Amino acid sequence: MNEDKTSQAGDSEHLAGSESKFRSLKNLIEHVSGKSLSETQPQQDSGIVEIIPFPFLAMVGQVEMKYALLLALINPALGGVLLIGPRGTGKTTAVRGLVDLLPEIPRSLCYYGCMPEDIEAGGIDAVCPNCAQKFARGEPLAAMDKIRLVELPLNARIEDVIGAADEKETGHEYLRLHRGILAHADKNLLLVDEVNLLADDVIDAILDAAAYGSYTVKRGASSATYRARFMLIGTMNPEEGRLRPQIMDRFGLRILVRGLENKEQRLEAYKRVQAYISNPRRVMQEYNNEKQIAQVEIQTARDILLDVKIPASLSDQGLELIRSLKIDSLRAEITLFEAMKALAALDNRKMASADDLQVIAPMALRMRRSGFMETYLNDQSKEEDEIIQAVDSTLKHA
Ligand SMILES: [Zn+2]
Repeated sequence: MNEDKTSQAGDSEHLAGSESKFRSLKNLIEHVSGKSLSETQPQQDSGIVEIIPFPFLAMVGQVEMKYALLLALINPALGGVLLIGPRGTGKTTAVRGLVDLLPEIPRSLCYYGCMPEDIEAGGIDAVCPNCAQKFARGEPLAAMDKIRLVELPLNARIEDVIGAADEKETGHEYLRLHRGILAHADKNLLLVDEVNLLADDVIDAILDAAAYGSYTVKRGASSATYRARFMLIGTMNPEEGRLRPQIMDRFGLRILVRGLENKEQRLEAYKRVQAYISNPRRVMQEYNNEKQIAQVEIQTARDILLDVKIPASLSDQGLELIRSLKIDSLRAEITLFEAMKALAALDNRKMASADDLQVIAPMALRMRRSGFMETYLNDQSKEEDEIIQAVDSTLKHA
């Protein structure tokens, strides 16, 4: 009890004044990356098994990974994040640590995920019969709720992902399913660890749902469409297998997560992990102040995102960059521009800058060039020329 008090006093002293110290979330991230844990008296093991994730802000270095994950929280339109790197570099830890920073969103109160805006967009038939009645009675269809982190289990089967039909309920116009992971992921973050090791049908179902924001399940004459608008975060260790190019293409930001190279950083990371193992609550408290600031900043960045503009000259430069790198996928510019806007919002600006382009371009554009496609398209245009020549000379001789 006594020890608790001392450590809390230490906390407030250590963090005094940090509220005014940060100009933006970007600034805060740069600060906490270099912050050392304050020296503390040896702690006793609390002896209570609690699931307290390692705080996101307590991770040492890995600035690009931190940015990418925060940008994804700010702007879901950037199309997901893939963390690529060897085992033990903190990929999964970073994603789990985000839990403390997740903002609030309006969430459907209904089994099928019906939202009031569905009625605005598609009329009363756009929601399920139950929600249509609620709407008519003037009852709310949604309430504010924190975004959650949903994790796909490593050996998930297709029925775990899309759900299975409830036999008792078949024959109704609206098919009721035991909710699958995709339904739970609606409006949340979906973490898919080892995405390169998933069964093809599972990853295809996830990527289709991610692309359309919904998925339809058919059983006999009945079918139902479920909302599944989620931010996809994948991790992979390239030593364990390749990712099909068409799957790779679906991920917006690609982050290469390497082990820390700097000796001081490695030592600091070791200290923080040891402190966390012996007393996770204590480490969580140590970052509590910054965490609260970050929560507010993320919410603010989400609010100003819609107002962020990219100057025409800058978007031209972005498109020119993509052209000069010979990247075909249209997803390249979607991710590039949406992530630039999120970064501007993260830095409290309503105008994206050349600096944003510089920071985002490697994350958005790496591993998008396909040597195969380049050779293939070159060969193809050679053949095209040959056909045109052959046509010309045949017609001339005719
Ligand atoms: Zn409904």
